[in-house]
Amino acid sequence: MSSNTPHKLASSGEQDPVITVEQVTKCYQTYRKPIHRLWQSFATKKQYYSEFWALKGIDLTVHRGETVGIVGKNGSGKSTLLQIIAGILQPTSGQFETHGRISALLELGAGFNPEFTGMENARLNASIMGLSREEFHAKLPDIVDFCGLGDFLHRPVKTYSSGMFVRLAFAVAINMNPDILIVDEALAVGDVRFQRKCFRRLDQLKEEGVSILFVTHSTDSVLQYCDRAIMLDEGELKLTGSPKQVVQAYLEMMFDSDVEVKAPVEVNADDYSVDFDPSEDNCVKHPTYNSNEHRWGDGRAKICHYEVLQNGAHTNGLVQRGDEIRIRASVLFNQDVDDLIYGVTVKTNDGNAVYGTNSRLVGQLPTRQASGDLVSIEFTLTLNLLAGDYFVSLGVAQDHESKDNIAIDRRYDLIHLHISDTQDAFGYAALDGQLNLITEGDT
Ligand code: ADP
Repeated sequence: MSSNTPHKLASSGEQDPVITVEQVTKCYQTYRKPIHRLWQSFATKKQYYSEFWALKGIDLTVHRGETVGIVGKNGSGKSTLLQIIAGILQPTSGQFETHGRISALLELGAGFNPEFTGMENARLNASIMGLSREEFHAKLPDIVDFCGLGDFLHRPVKTYSSGMFVRLAFAVAINMNPDILIVDEALAVGDVRFQRKCFRRLDQLKEEGVSILFVTHSTDSVLQYCDRAIMLDEGELKLTGSPKQVVQAYLEMMFDSDVEVKAPVEVNADDYSVDFDPSEDNCVKHPTYNSNEHRWGDGRAKICHYEVLQNGAHTNGLVQRGDEIRIRASVLFNQDVDDLIYGVTVKTNDGNAVYGTNSRLVGQLPTRQASGDLVSIEFTLTLNLLAGDYFVSLGVAQDHESKDNIAIDRRYDLIHLHISDTQDAFGYAALDGQLNLITEGDT
C-alpha cells in the first residue's frame, strides 16, 4: 500500500511519520535457466525456481525532516528496501505507507530514457513527478546550474559517462520539490568535488524539512548527516539507533571483510603562471580549482587569484601528509572597506571542518583597505592530515555583530587537495600515535 500525494502535507509536524514499513518481506524467485521461467508459467505443481528471501520482515518508521542512513554488507537487502519504499518493487508480504512526493536516486539510468537528451529527460521526470510546466521552468535554472553539464544537456543521455549521469539525476531529483528523498549510493559515482556539492544541498533540503533515506558505505556520511541509522544483515534489521551506535556495530561486523581502497583522484597538473590580470577570476585556472565551489558575497572585494606552494614550489594539489603548504590569495578591492576579516577553512570531503581560522582570531592583518588596492594574504598550513580529499575555503568578510559577519567574497570549497600517506592510520587527524607493548619488568 503506497499513497503518493503530489503536494506537501499541509500541517506536518516534526513527528509525523512519512514512511511506515511494517513486516515487509521480499522473496526473489530465481531460475537456473531462462526456459524454466516459461515452464513455470504452465506448471501446476512442480516448482522450477528457488526462493531467495532478500528481506525477512522489516519494520521502519521515518519522520518528517529526519535523515536516516542504511548500512549493511553488500547483498543485505538495502537496495531492495529502498526500491520497495520508492514504489518500484512490490513487497512479497507486509505493508508500507508513504506520505508526500518521493524523489528517488536509485540505480543509474532508472527513470531515464537513453535516447532522450538530458533536458528532455529532466522535463519527462518533472511531468511524471507531477510538476506543472511553470513549476518545471522555475526549477530549470537550478537544474542546469547544479548539474554543470553545459551543452551536454542537449545530447542524448546514452552518450553520458556515469559521472555525468549522476550529475543530471541528482540535479533533477533534488529539484522535484520532494518531501522524501531516497538516495542509493548514487553519490559514490560522482567525483568528489561534486559529492561535496551534493552533501551541501542535502543539508539544505534537510533544513527545509525533507526526509532523507540513504544507503551508504561511508560511515562518515552516516555520522555527519544522519539523525538515525539502521543496519541490515541478510535481509533482517539488525539494529536501529543513533548514527554512532549503528556505525560502531557496522564497523565491528565489517572488521574481517574486504576493505575497499579508493584510487586517488587525478588532479590536472597543467603548469600555472603567476602573472595575472586582477580584474579577472584567475582562480579558475589553478589545477586545484574546484568548479563546484560555492561562492557568494557582496563583491566589494574579489579573491581574484591564488597559488599553492608546497615546500616553496608550486603544487598541483597532490600533497603528502605533513607537508607545509602556503596558500597565497590575492584580493582586489572595488570599494573602501573597513573591519576586514580574512578566513581559511579546511574541510573533509563530506563537509566536516578539520581546521579553520581567520584574521580576527589571529589578529594580525590590517583591517582597512581602499578601493583599487590589490593585496595578497598568505595562509600557511601544516597538513597533519591522513590520506583523503580535502577542500579549502577562503573568504573575505566584514566584521559585524551578526554571527556570520557580512560576506564580501566567500569561496567555499575553492581548493581541492588530495593528501596521500602510508595508510598506517584511519580518520582525519595525523596524531602520530605509537603502539608499544610494555611487558612486566620494563621501566
Ligand atoms: P544490497 O543493496 O544490500 O547490496 P540488494 O537489495 O541489492 O542488497 O540485494 C539483496 C539480495 O537480493 C542479494 O543477495 C541479491 O543478490 C538479491 N537480489 C537482488 N535483486 C534480485 C533479483 N532481481 N533476483 C534475484 N535476487 C536478487
